Amino acid sequence: MSEKAPRAPGLRIGCGADVHPLAAGRRLVLGGIIIPHERGLSGHSDADVLAHAICDAVLGALGDPDMGVRFPDSDEAHRGRSSLEFLREVMSDARSRGYTIVNLDAVVLAEAPRLQPHLEAMRTALAEALGCPAASVGVKAKRCEGIGAVGRKEGIAAQAVVLLGPAVPVAGAAPGAGAGRGAPRPARRKGRA
Ligand SMILES: [Zn+2]
Repeated sequence: MSEKAPRAPGLRIGCGADVHPLAAGRRLVLGGIIIPHERGLSGHSDADVLAHAICDAVLGALGDPDMGVRFPDSDEAHRGRSSLEFLREVMSDARSRGYTIVNLDAVVLAEAPRLQPHLEAMRTALAEALGCPAASVGVKAKRCEGIGAVGRKEGIAAQAVVLLGPAVPVAGAAPGAGAGRGAPRPARRKGRA
């Protein structure tokens, strides 16, 4: 191993939580996946509550202000926008600072619909947006047993914890140099730049 390996940033952990109300006439989007349901989540963007919780966790790990500051709902540019684009954007920032996803774990709190059949597709879509292997992305679904607003099917909530670690440098490039928007890079050792 080279003695001249660049000094890596340390590990950084972040947590995120979000909740959106369910409303008629909206598509239900969770983890970037459109899920058949009679109602969807209302919000300025696609209201993907899971992607938002993960996005806030990444921003928290970076020590940055949360999504409300970064992507304000007063900005018409964000109306109807896919929340996977928010993830790509914050991860591009993270990579430019030398970080990549070590792993993340998230839970969606929803009384209905049943999310189990969609969890793998969510993991795959989230991993693609985050530029990490699907094995680094955990998504669980939990019901609230009829308790509280989520239990009464008034909305869906999500929580996420993200661990960031040093991105493995690509040969011939300094860490973070030329970090493109979600540009895939060859895996080196474990993790991905
Ligand atoms: Zn949100």
